[in-house]
Amino acid sequence: MLILLSDAFDASLPDRLAPFGEVTDDKARRGDANVVLIRSKTRVDREYLDAAPNLELVIRGGVGLDNVDVDYAKEKGVRVHNTAAASSVAVAELTVAMLLAMPNHVVRGHNGMVEGQWLKKELKRTELFKKTLGIIGCGRIGREVAKRCAAFGMRVVAFDPMPIDDPTIEQLDTVDALYAAADYITINTPLVDSTRGMIDAAAIAKMKDGVFLANTGRGQVVVEADVAQALGDGKIAGFATDVWYSDPPEDSPLIGAPNTLLLPHLGASTNENLLRIGDIIVELVGEHVKESR
Ligand code: NAD
Repeated sequence: MLILLSDAFDASLPDRLAPFGEVTDDKARRGDANVVLIRSKTRVDREYLDAAPNLELVIRGGVGLDNVDVDYAKEKGVRVHNTAAASSVAVAELTVAMLLAMPNHVVRGHNGMVEGQWLKKELKRTELFKKTLGIIGCGRIGREVAKRCAAFGMRVVAFDPMPIDDPTIEQLDTVDALYAAADYITINTPLVDSTRGMIDAAAIAKMKDGVFLANTGRGQVVVEADVAQALGDGKIAGFATDVWYSDPPEDSPLIGAPNTLLLPHLGASTNENLLRIGDIIVELVGEHVKESR
């Protein structure tokens, strides 16, 4: 059994996987690999799968499977798993950090100090207390964000096609109702046909003036040029994003737009989460080895 670590994982993982077979991080050996472990960087598309004839199992350490051609893998008899439950707390904490940092001017205040400016009069903060948070996509991560924001005294509303069933969250029937109600919006959907480009100029026009948005879902859920325009004319007071059209972004209009908080896809990257992801991977590889005996 050859196990290929194609992206970055916790340093303990190779040793933990060694009892199941040979472990390598040499990507040139994908043609021989039986198991490939990826995060968001490696794209397991048609071409990748065709070049890996021995592949039996792909494990995506993390949640989003938009970098894997799941249907083609199935057609080829390759099993695909993610580690869905591991990352929720890590991503939720980063989302809350963004929701706190924007209205508190953490980045501007800090940059001012470094540049020798005392922006005490210029920077007026806004509280989360008694404001409405709108969660678009209220699954595992969205519900963890809800819990934390409820503790700050926020009213939490959400739009999700699936039932939410959580007494701290008011589920709204339409996303338009969320746009009308929310002072802060967090995007926690996967990238699927119904979410691709959903935050465009028309959606932004339905939001409150001065809304704050945080995106830890997927970059392509927003139309970056429309968000940059709304930041420029003040319709959006702040936009924080951890996710991009590509990692790293090329030519994004958000870089250089005002009132942004831009992060390099750090949502899942806590030390604790990398260990949790490792635990699930060891379990999945162990089960796979047992089944293939
Ligand atoms: P989840 O499947 O538990 O929740 C996603 C929710 O989105 C589901 O409840 C689903 O019904 C809902 N949804 C689907 N289409 C929708 C639509 N059109 N409008 C509103 N809601 C819709 O997944 P999760 O674990 O909460 O993760 C959510 C997403 O977060 C992942 O798919 C991934 O893209 C992203 N993510 C990002 C990072 C990061 O590093 N920033 C890490 C992990 C996950």
